[in-house]
Amino acid sequence: MPDRVRKGLPESRVDAQEYSHFMAGSIIIIYYKYTLIADPAAFVAWLRLQCEEIGIFGRMLVAHEGINGSVEGTPAQITEYETRLRTQTFCDLADVWFKSSPGTGHAFKKLKVKVRREIVATGLPTAADVDPNLQTGQHIAAAELHDWITRGEEFEIIDMRNEYEYNVGHFAGSHNSTMANFRDLIAITPKFDNLKTKKVLTVCTYGVRCEKASAYLQQQGFQDVYQLHGGIGTYMKAYPGQDFQGSLYVFDDRMTEQFTPDYVKVGKCFVCAATSERFGNCANHDCHKQLIICESCGVEPVWCTAECRQ
Ligand SMILES: [Zn+2]
Ligand SMILES: [Zn+2]
Repeated sequence: MPDRVRKGLPESRVDAQEYSHFMAGSIIIIYYKYTLIADPAAFVAWLRLQCEEIGIFGRMLVAHEGINGSVEGTPAQITEYETRLRTQTFCDLADVWFKSSPGTGHAFKKLKVKVRREIVATGLPTAADVDPNLQTGQHIAAAELHDWITRGEEFEIIDMRNEYEYNVGHFAGSHNSTMANFRDLIAITPKFDNLKTKKVLTVCTYGVRCEKASAYLQQQGFQDVYQLHGGIGTYMKAYPGQDFQGSLYVFDDRMTEQFTPDYVKVGKCFVCAATSERFGNCANHDCHKQLIICESCGVEPVWCTAECRQ
């Protein structure tokens, strides 16, 4: 078995160069914190300077409500970045949780640091907005969720990620939000009205979306709402190949993340339904919807609907 397969990396996406970076130990970290940032523009300028000095690429979104970021670097670079973030005085990141994964050496092609109204766009009008520091679903650790599953606790999982993320991997028996993007939160929530009196757990990649999604469910009258602390990635790291089926979609050049070579692929080609984890886009450039399209079907343009084809 080739090493890259044993490492659980998707074979088709790994070339020799990428693999050498992986072996060299490049690391990707992802983090967020909802915390008051008085001057997002000044913090963004400072962040950009630190990344340039350290020599790392990645993506950071900063708002008055907090920060959401992901960067890649060598262990020394990442340690330096984390130290600078924890000790700066623009906002309180002393206790921020940096979640790490093996890198590829080129997960990010550039540095993108931006000021936004929200660190994850919900599309909630300001009046209906939720502040996770005031209200949010109760956090449960990966170990507690594993315990719930193991002892057959009665609860429902609503996967707050987008549909294309769900399609390539999800918890067994979880509900697909069917969101095209997180701005659909308001539109999709009524679909789950029948769960309002049930015990509900929201899950997302590394936790940031659930802070607001679980708060929004509470605001809409859901009575018993929990969120998975640290997200699916943290769960998969602790319990690889269990309960969560398939791969974890990630928003960098890796496309998906695996935690064990012994996982079952659940992704299916949009066109031919063959097992696949290869992402492509609707050929209509105004749509560009992400779809799983296998290698052979990807030779031809694929449209997500008849309307897109016209
Ligand atoms: Zn196909
Ligand atoms: Zn389309």
